[in-house]
Amino acid sequence: MLLMKDIIDDKNPLIREISQPVEMPLSKEDEQLLLDMHEFLVHSQDEELSKKYDLRPAVGIAGVQIGVLKRICAIHVLTYNEDGDVKKVDDYALVNPKIISHTEKKSYLKDGEGCLSVNDEVQGLVPRYAKVTVKGYDVLTHQDVTIVARGFLAICLQHELDHFDGKLFYDHIDKNNPTMPIRNAIIVE
Ligand SMILES: [Zn+2]
Repeated sequence: MLLMKDIIDDKNPLIREISQPVEMPLSKEDEQLLLDMHEFLVHSQDEELSKKYDLRPAVGIAGVQIGVLKRICAIHVLTYNEDGDVKKVDDYALVNPKIISHTEKKSYLKDGEGCLSVNDEVQGLVPRYAKVTVKGYDVLTHQDVTIVARGFLAICLQHELDHFDGKLFYDHIDKNNPTMPIRNAIIVE
């Protein structure tokens, strides 16, 4: 199982490398790797397990973050209703996911983004596309998927896909006006 010690941070030059597409059909090793990455996310959001293994809660992880330069990422996003109950779960373990279309309209997370590979808190708003359509192969369901994502999920996907190209969330922050609300953009809570 993956632990925090397996995750590289942004001081490691590898984090800026370009990840390569994965050849299909998927090897057993790559499939297992993706399942482990997804499991890490589930554990990281579980109160007991995250404490036990000292995991930082995360909704997404990309291959490069465990030192594997392949275009693979996992997502585990829980959406809660007003009563605090889980309303929806978005689970993916994706191979070669790609944005095939997006809106011009932007959105951003109200309090900015964080990253498993960024240990310091970085203040600043990160502009993202408000809606993206992502295509890829999903290991959890063993099929090609087309994900039409808005809001938080859309932001997570863009954050993870950025990792494939060596980009980090803070690269998108306006250095001169990091917390100035982004014009015409949807604020995602
Ligand atoms: Zn990240």
